[in-house]
Amino acid sequence: MSEKKYVYHFAEGNANMKMLLGGKGANLAEMSRIGLPVPPGFIVTTEACRDFIAQGQQFPAGLKEEVQTAMKQLEGELGRCFGGENDLLLISVRSGSPVSMPGMMDTVLNLGLNDRTVEALAKDSGNETFALDCYRRLLTMFGDVVLGVEHDKFAAIYDSEKHRVGVSFDYQLTPDSLRRIINDYKDLIAAAGAHPFPQDPMEQLFMSIFAVFNSWQNDRAVIYRKLHKIPDDYGTAVNIQAMVFGNMGEGSGSGVAFSRNPSTGEKALYGEYLLNAQGEDIVAGIRTPKPISLLKEELPEIYDQFAEKSDFIEKHYKNMQDMEFTVERGKLWILQTRNGKRTAAASVRIAVNMAEEGLISKEEAIMSVDAGQLSQLLHRQIDPQAEVQVIAAGLPASPGAASGTVVFDSEQAHQMTKNGAKVILVRTETTPDDIQGIVAAQGILTSRGGMTSHAAVVARGMGKCCVCGCEAIKIDYINKVFTVDDLTIKEGDTISIDGTQGHVVLGEVPMVEPELSPEFMQLSKWADDIRTLSVRANADNPADAARAIELGATGIGLCRTEHMFMDPQRLPLVQAMILAENAAQRQEALGKLLPVQQQDFYDIFKTMDGLPVTMRLLDPPLHEFLPDATKLAVEICTMEFTKAPQSEIDEKKRLLDIIETLAERNPMLGNRGCRLGITFPEIYEMQAEAIFHAAAQLCKEGCCPVPEIEIPLISDNRELTYIRKLILRAKDKVEKETGIVVECKIGVMIELPRAALIADELAVQADFFCFGTNDLTQATLGFSRDDAEGTFMPAYLEKKIFIESPFIVIDRTGVGKLMQMAVDNGRSVKPDLLIGICGEQGGEPGSIEFCHLTGLDYVSCSPFRIPIARIAAAQAKIKHEHDIEGDFNTH
Ligand code: PEP
Ligand code: MG
Repeated sequence: MSEKKYVYHFAEGNANMKMLLGGKGANLAEMSRIGLPVPPGFIVTTEACRDFIAQGQQFPAGLKEEVQTAMKQLEGELGRCFGGENDLLLISVRSGSPVSMPGMMDTVLNLGLNDRTVEALAKDSGNETFALDCYRRLLTMFGDVVLGVEHDKFAAIYDSEKHRVGVSFDYQLTPDSLRRIINDYKDLIAAAGAHPFPQDPMEQLFMSIFAVFNSWQNDRAVIYRKLHKIPDDYGTAVNIQAMVFGNMGEGSGSGVAFSRNPSTGEKALYGEYLLNAQGEDIVAGIRTPKPISLLKEELPEIYDQFAEKSDFIEKHYKNMQDMEFTVERGKLWILQTRNGKRTAAASVRIAVNMAEEGLISKEEAIMSVDAGQLSQLLHRQIDPQAEVQVIAAGLPASPGAASGTVVFDSEQAHQMTKNGAKVILVRTETTPDDIQGIVAAQGILTSRGGMTSHAAVVARGMGKCCVCGCEAIKIDYINKVFTVDDLTIKEGDTISIDGTQGHVVLGEVPMVEPELSPEFMQLSKWADDIRTLSVRANADNPADAARAIELGATGIGLCRTEHMFMDPQRLPLVQAMILAENAAQRQEALGKLLPVQQQDFYDIFKTMDGLPVTMRLLDPPLHEFLPDATKLAVEICTMEFTKAPQSEIDEKKRLLDIIETLAERNPMLGNRGCRLGITFPEIYEMQAEAIFHAAAQLCKEGCCPVPEIEIPLISDNRELTYIRKLILRAKDKVEKETGIVVECKIGVMIELPRAALIADELAVQADFFCFGTNDLTQATLGFSRDDAEGTFMPAYLEKKIFIESPFIVIDRTGVGKLMQMAVDNGRSVKPDLLIGICGEQGGEPGSIEFCHLTGLDYVSCSPFRIPIARIAAAQAKIKHEHDIEGDFNTH
């Protein structure tokens, strides 16, 4: 016997054993423990799966014996016999990894049936059709999952028999038809050259466990894990459980339901069921299920029992639940419950409502949302003012709206998107094999399946819009068209879908940006009360600044002043300044730029009245403001060829000379940032003067500007001394001219490793630090920020050299170490030194957590990420001070 324990009876486990028993297994154990009516069973651990893979797909020693013992116990518990003639026990085998992977792994139901026991089941249940149908299902699933025979081939046999006898619905098939189908299935398995279907139930069981372990390695599971960043070495557990049947006549049925609406968060039982059906019929989308509210009329007692259990389960788990149930001849069984997947909007509403109901604390409410998913709430919607032609309606499976060209095939969707197309994937229903197409598409439209179908669940998780169960559309894959009444939509035509309303709309339509819900505002307020990190915005114009305030920013952490230079109307002024032949000419050009910049600064300070605004002095190399050298050279050649006036050619040549003089082999390491301020001090002087003038003007008008001047790309203390003096000179000059003293911090960006290393020196002169982690990452890793993501980064991610791009998520161990050093050294000189971050990572939840831990004062990010940053900052505080872990259910 192995020393390891590979098998746990449900009664031996609990909810905290997810890593060992898988999410589903731990949950089944917990459900048993709290007294829910769960069909009994046991769990083969994830450790067994890991050992199985490590040993080259061999069952680890002792596993089989433990399974046999557990089966004996299960038989005893139910008084049924696995493979017996009377009181037949049938079991299900399901995968279940520590992190939920919906539809990604494999399941086999009705194990224990064979040519002999199927007759026993028929006798036992008094329902021959049911027994044969169970056997048929087993052959399909076992054939597909365990023996590797394509599912479609079973479906084709099934459909052809239905067609042959002229019936439309599964339940209309007679025992004769089912027997024929069963024989054809066996022939199919034999013809496919697969291992014959085993008649021995124990062999069925072991082969199924083998297949579930292997399914951990199948393509769709691997892609899903990659997409959701689930470690490959978790492994899957195998849940083995007694079967109960929802297809034993009208008093039986199956359903799936959420304890609250997963799309909107509304507090109402939400789900679907089918009478006389098994659970997989609901999700397979073959028959369109009925809304759970109708169960109240069809089986009122069961509905009441279920509603009561739903409430009880939600209170126990303190989370919205996604439950599967079966009614077997009037007895309710709860097969499964787990924290329900939900849209970001529902997640926020449920969190706030549950806190208000006293079910969870405010901290738990904040921790229950996935900050990264909140960007879904900023999804576009179809402009309600727009006149749109709705051609069909389905279920509003995942909110948001999108337009794109129609494509019917997932691989093609993937290819077309690579070439820059925007597509809507249209399928009768999706399966896990469609994952690439779903990832690629702007939105998904299916003609079958409900709110819990594969397409709906996956799209919701990805924050993609999806319309499901749109039965009005008839899809013809062969001719690559779908029709709605007389209308034909071909592949390549443009449609729009509205996953909030469930509408399919002809053509491309205007979209609008969404508003944040009152619940979101509430949650954000709670987050604001908790978080210690401030959230500022990276904004370069008054409109972005206004949006940032609306979204809750309390300052601008980075205003890239060069963005004002790039305005096409201003570019000639900037170019004149760069092309000046002498100081006088340059001064003249700068004189023209000054009032323009001053107006920009004035407008932003005014919008941000009373809030800090970090104005960064010019950063990019000057050649970025000039035409492209190659294009100019071609233009000169053409002019010479067409004999253009010589004076014009000479002028262009002079321009080309200057461009060539300014050109650098590594402009990112060249004359940019504060180096520009040293080589062309008059530019920085002009900018500083414009800032002080704008601020002085506002002070005169009774406003309260709070400018902070920031110097980019500092690597040496003497650079700072030089530029600080220059700024103070400008301050002095404006004070003399206006008689107004403007308070202004002068700080540095820490975006080069040397700046981090000499942070204590810099802190003597600097009033603040702000980490420019875009450059700091580039310089620390020696990766070009402009090229890495398009060249070697995909290979790095693919080969798991990096788990995430350091340009998206802070590289804590490298760049993070420099940041920590800069914070510690800087504050050793100035304990109150203001420190923030304004690189792209400043809006990413994991990086925000790091900034919190490092002791930063603020994060600054693009306006649309501010809502995320506010919540993420609070989550960081809660996680590290209240010790509450997040439990995200939005994907
Ligand atoms: C940075 O380097 O992180 C930064 C914010 O500056 P920029 O992206 O403009 O170089
Ligand atoms: Mg930078």
